[in-house]
Amino acid sequence: MTDFAATRAAFDLPEGVIYLDGNSLGVLPRGAAARVERTIRAEWGERLIRAWNDAGWMTQPARVGDRIARLIGAPAGSVVVGDTLSIKVYQALAAALALRPGRRIVLSDSGNFPTDLYIAQGLLDTLGQGHELRVVAPEEVAGAITGDVAATLLTEVDYRTGRLHDMAALTRVAHEAGALAIWDLAHSAGAIPVDVTRAGADFAVGCTYKYLNGGPGAPAFIHVAPRHAAVARPALAGWMGHEAPFAFDAAYRPGAGIERMRVGTPPVIALAALEAALEVWDMVDMRDVRAASLRLSERFIAEVEAQCPALELASPRDAAQRGSQVSFRHPHAYPVMAALIDRGVIGDVRAPDILRFGFTPLYLSEQEVVRAAGVLATIMRDEAWRDPRFQQRQAVT
Ligand SMILES: *Cc1c(COP(=O)(O)O)cnc(C)c1O
Repeated sequence: MTDFAATRAAFDLPEGVIYLDGNSLGVLPRGAAARVERTIRAEWGERLIRAWNDAGWMTQPARVGDRIARLIGAPAGSVVVGDTLSIKVYQALAAALALRPGRRIVLSDSGNFPTDLYIAQGLLDTLGQGHELRVVAPEEVAGAITGDVAATLLTEVDYRTGRLHDMAALTRVAHEAGALAIWDLAHSAGAIPVDVTRAGADFAVGCTYKYLNGGPGAPAFIHVAPRHAAVARPALAGWMGHEAPFAFDAAYRPGAGIERMRVGTPPVIALAALEAALEVWDMVDMRDVRAASLRLSERFIAEVEAQCPALELASPRDAAQRGSQVSFRHPHAYPVMAALIDRGVIGDVRAPDILRFGFTPLYLSEQEVVRAAGVLATIMRDEAWRDPRFQQRQAVT
């Protein structure tokens, strides 16, 4: 059983804050600052360039990847870390399209995060081979996987509503149609149990600064199913993905397996913070996280619906159909959230009218969830959100 008192003690939470935004930026793990300090002073400061070898900087992307592999049901040696998720989406899709040369359709859904769609369209335009990005409603995905689809590009948990796709079922439909399945696990990794192997996913990508608590701008991950790893063609053929980077060959030869999905020099300091953050997960069984997350989110929905009749649930009511977040609609979502944050309850908004709350049992208790709903109820009852200072929009929501 996961000891959630112990996991909570592994995080530095500011006094007086109830944090319901770990789905967007996870909380600072206590070990991260010391680890970054060590990397900067003892490794960079003292060892200088020697640290690439003797502090393990060069092998860090795969070592950290193995820690993530365990959380997403991937075998060791099938995940590597680096770059941003946008870049990893590009790599996965480019590799998938090269494995399905006769097909021209990429299928995604309108609930997908915009960068995934932008990156896909940009790649298809660059290829100039007549590929088409087909975007359907989330509930129409299965029926739209026709024989001309090269790859599906889907995010398992909808960033706005928390709606959960059935990864195994949709992957099966894709495979039956001869297509490959790429899964974006941005809101899944560290949020819900994931098993890319059992689901049969061909590629999976995700970020590490959300539920995995790697810190702002922490590098992303990519998983390539072992059956494709030796044949997947890296579209971003950087020197760190070369078979022998320090041979300095003029010609590119892809590295062994997942190593070929590395691009350039790894972000060593960011990786140090991420590695420390991932050590917390050694204490964790994802099934316990799921059970606790559902308990917290069900309680929150019950409290909010009982006290805030003006808020409309925007997430699936069936807990089995949700990831680890809950959203409510309100026409004045922005000032409502601003008033909530002003009172120390931090969630976020997604345009145009979504109030979004993430549930992270590693450092969030049921008492806090109840208190957060109470603060929200007070704001709604008193219409405190009408205060002019809550109307001013900031750049990042
Ligand atoms: C958060 C998120 C991203 C962010 O991409 P970055 O390149 O890391 O900024 C991309 N896709 C999805 C589905 C996300 O939820």
